[in-house]
Amino acid sequence: MGLLTFKGGIHPDDGKRFSKDQAIRPIVPKGDLVYPLSQHIGAPANPVVKKGDHVLKGQKIAEAGGYVSAPVYSAVSGKVKGLEQRFTPTGNRAECIVIENDGAYEEMLYDPVRPVEQMSSDEILAKIGEAGVVGMGGAGFPTKVKLSPKEPDKIEYIIANCAECEPYITADYRRMLENTEELVSGMRVVLSLFPNAKGIFAVEDNKKDCIEKLEQAVMEEPRMDVKALATKYPQGAERQLIYAVTKRAINSSMLPADAGCIVDNVETLIAIHTAVVEGKPLLERVVTVSGDDVESPGNFLVPLGTNHRELIEAAGGFKADPEKLISGGPMMGFAMVSLDAPVTKTSSAILAFKEDIVSKNPETACINCGRCVEVCPSRIIPSRLADYARRHDEESFVAMNGLECVECGSCSYVCPAKRQLKQAIGSMRKTALANKRKK
Ligand code: SF4
Ligand code: SF4
Repeated sequence: MGLLTFKGGIHPDDGKRFSKDQAIRPIVPKGDLVYPLSQHIGAPANPVVKKGDHVLKGQKIAEAGGYVSAPVYSAVSGKVKGLEQRFTPTGNRAECIVIENDGAYEEMLYDPVRPVEQMSSDEILAKIGEAGVVGMGGAGFPTKVKLSPKEPDKIEYIIANCAECEPYITADYRRMLENTEELVSGMRVVLSLFPNAKGIFAVEDNKKDCIEKLEQAVMEEPRMDVKALATKYPQGAERQLIYAVTKRAINSSMLPADAGCIVDNVETLIAIHTAVVEGKPLLERVVTVSGDDVESPGNFLVPLGTNHRELIEAAGGFKADPEKLISGGPMMGFAMVSLDAPVTKTSSAILAFKEDIVSKNPETACINCGRCVEVCPSRIIPSRLADYARRHDEESFVAMNGLECVECGSCSYVCPAKRQLKQAIGSMRKTALANKRKK
């Protein structure tokens, strides 16, 4: 059987050679830890500590601010310095709880856990919600809400997004190799909520070692399977992944559950295992530190709240002053304006590059070559949509399916005129979505 895939997409240099063979190393932060109250989609969390309080590692410092929200926990013991405006990795300033790390790592005593088989669905969901688990692939949607569709019996596929198609990032790759059992255990927990679902680990075929390891691990799991995907960007985008695995198409007005699917990424499934099987809150994640300007690229287990500067130090520092810093992958990540931003629940990587190639290639006029149309996985017309966006013609933009853009950046990548198509379409799309919600 051929490899599962979707139409369109690109094959950029994956850059994974820098860090893929580096085993996960823990980071022990020395400086202050910073926790944005909004590290997820939905209402910001509400602080439950005040300046001067002493906190333990694993102690809740902010509670969920509503149904679609998530609590936040301190990953170190120390003293609450206060509530301050700080930079986040996306370049925005946001309200954050700042903890002065006392270096003692004195940890909470957690409630004893019961075997998953003895827990009801409501108990399992409550544990996931209370642990602060959100989509850690970048979306940050509270996982408890995602795992609570209206009709759980109609969910047929739980898809573990093991594609990791973004260039340079190897955090999920290392997790699949080094934490296979925890990953499979997370899938087992999710499957216990959906009696009619099958668990699929969907892995790009450039990670053959992960496919083999997972196949071994699910050999005795009748409800789980491993599927190889073609190696192509953006194979891990939710809609493209669902299509590749099930041949079911969803659009921007639908949820994966409408196609009988739920998609969780690798780090999220491991966090589900930690929450339900180990009874511990979300305190850490694996982050890749890479790029041609990093002395010793690697993959690090990082306590949430750790300053990105400490990650760069752990990777041996910069070779020279980087022209470009990115939080996340080069295709869908955010240009960082300051290294002094904390690792959050959705931080998968920090990349440092000697050159900012994009800013050195000025845009020129469209030559109507059609390449952007060929690669667009959403089957829309990027060149035309970018024109509508520049003219602020929202009506035409929506009529031409601009809302279907998944902001993958494939169009900008192939454009010989170096047009910033994704940026133009992405910003118009956000405006159009906000206006749609208002209506
Ligand atoms: S228009 Fe959107 S979905 Fe299509 S290639 Fe460009 S960024 Fe990707
Ligand atoms: S790829 Fe660039 S130059 Fe070619 S049609 Fe699209 S916008 Fe125009």
